[in-house]
Amino acid sequence: MSSLKVSSLTNSIIIKSLVLLIISMIVIVMIGTYVFTQKQMKTTLKLSYDTNETQLQQLANTANNEMEQFASRLTLLAKTSEIQSMDKFTAAGYLKSFNISSLFISGESISLFDRNYNLICNNSMLGSVKISYPIEFNRISPHRPTISPWYRDSDGTPKRAFGVVVSDRAHGDGRLVSNFSIRRLWKFFTDYKVGQNGILIACNGQGEILYHPDMRTWLDGVHKISELGLGDMNIKQDLNNTVQFLTLEDGKTYLINRTFNPTYDLGLIALQPKSEIDAQVSSVKHVSRIILYSSIIAILLVSLWQILIVCKPLNDLIDHISQITEGNLNIEKFNAKRSQDEIGRLAKVFNQMHEMIKRQIQELNEHRDMLEKEVKERTYELEQANKKLDIISRTDELTQLPNRRDMHRTIEKEVNRANRLNRSFSIIFIDIDHFKNVNDTYGHAAGDAVLKSVAGTIRSLLRKYDVLARYGGEEFLTLLPETELKDAAHVAERFRKQIENQTIFFGGQEIKVTITLGVAQFDSRLGAERCIQLADKALYDGKEQGRNRVIIWNDEMAKQDSEEKNS
Ligand code: GH3
Ligand code: MG
Ligand code: MG
Repeated sequence: MSSLKVSSLTNSIIIKSLVLLIISMIVIVMIGTYVFTQKQMKTTLKLSYDTNETQLQQLANTANNEMEQFASRLTLLAKTSEIQSMDKFTAAGYLKSFNISSLFISGESISLFDRNYNLICNNSMLGSVKISYPIEFNRISPHRPTISPWYRDSDGTPKRAFGVVVSDRAHGDGRLVSNFSIRRLWKFFTDYKVGQNGILIACNGQGEILYHPDMRTWLDGVHKISELGLGDMNIKQDLNNTVQFLTLEDGKTYLINRTFNPTYDLGLIALQPKSEIDAQVSSVKHVSRIILYSSIIAILLVSLWQILIVCKPLNDLIDHISQITEGNLNIEKFNAKRSQDEIGRLAKVFNQMHEMIKRQIQELNEHRDMLEKEVKERTYELEQANKKLDIISRTDELTQLPNRRDMHRTIEKEVNRANRLNRSFSIIFIDIDHFKNVNDTYGHAAGDAVLKSVAGTIRSLLRKYDVLARYGGEEFLTLLPETELKDAAHVAERFRKQIENQTIFFGGQEIKVTITLGVAQFDSRLGAERCIQLADKALYDGKEQGRNRVIIWNDEMAKQDSEEKNS
């Protein structure tokens, strides 16, 4: 029994449903995985953006703090007695002192100006080296530090000038001016990481680059962010927290976060390569793919299991039923593994039906056997009766010899045989002489006894294949196969002698009879009928010649016969 051979029924219903189920489940899983992947991609992107945004804001705060602290320090410095003294030597000594000079980094300078904006002193070790600041002294506010736009110093480093008013009622207000070098912020910028391989760029409100990791290229002179491929991006505007990708001059696409502080004219741009984010998403895709493939395998396994628990027993049952329909009724009962389910119940009902059919067929067979036996017995009886009837119809009741009809049949067969084998046969016609007298003298019963006795005597003289029949009342016919006329005449003579010499005893009386015999040989040109007639004719001649003799049909008689016919 093939375990997975699927019949047309299961094929059309179960397999099609399963295929439909598998396809729909796979589609659902694929859609689910796609939606999940898309969602994960969005989440990952948003997460990267938000992380970058938070870090960028922190960095902006740090940078702003640095500048704020720088301004505060300058304000405090302006309020010290040494500076307020506006004395060249006192102020210069103070600014050059270790306590103050350590507050400034290399490239940063601090200068004190009098009310006419003439330099009093600066912290330069060279003495009063004139340092020019891009600041309008008369515009410096007495209340808060005034800050110039970013400019490039003689060393090329981007800087900003901070100016505060030095209150001096006696001599009129002076000005304390210092420049703030971007180098202070570089350490924060350098430490800052955007993703793994991201870039941080700092610029001013005009888009001039203040910091770029590739310092040599991008800080060797004034460069603008537009040169990087950031297009017409206005660092001051469009800061509406949207996720944005941009392809730069290097051909790579970046996720952009940016921030701008107008107070300090500082813009920060964080660029994270899209490939990094894609890599994170691709791991999500990988997981999704694993989920998808394992789901498909699980679905297929479940389907296979379904086929095994539904189709296999169903097919087994179908095979079982077809064996029975092919006539194998003695097959064992169908054994359903789980008897509670539909197939189990179907098997139970089917087994009951199988038992019933078996019982009915057994009863039918028994009945048929009985009928067959009866028919056989009847047929046998009928055959026996027919045989008897046949024998009776062919046999003479008195002498038990074949009768005239049977003799004709035997002659017919012998004619065929003689013609076929080109052989001949002879016929002897026998008639008891004056038999009427026997009847008249001794009675009919004695006549019967004589008939029986003559028949018995002649039969005892015959060869095995010779045939003797009672042809009429006291007439007998003998057929001698493969016997010439001459030999037949000898046989006839033997008959005659035997009868002549024999005495028949009946009712205490002795009866003697003679017979007359006519002999003829079969000639295929004459035919059997004619041959019998010729023998009869010879017999008739014998009677005429005085009875108790054998007459052989000869040519002379034939001639005589034809003459009689013609006349
Ligand atoms: P022929 O010598 O010329 O033959 O004279 P026949 O008397 O023998 O011949 P016929 O034909 O005159 O008589 C035959 C008789 O045989 C007449 C008939 O009653 C008698 N017979 C025929 N069949 C039977 C039989 O079965 N039993 C007895 N007892 N007599 C029979
Ligand atoms: Mg007769
Ligand atoms: Mg007679």
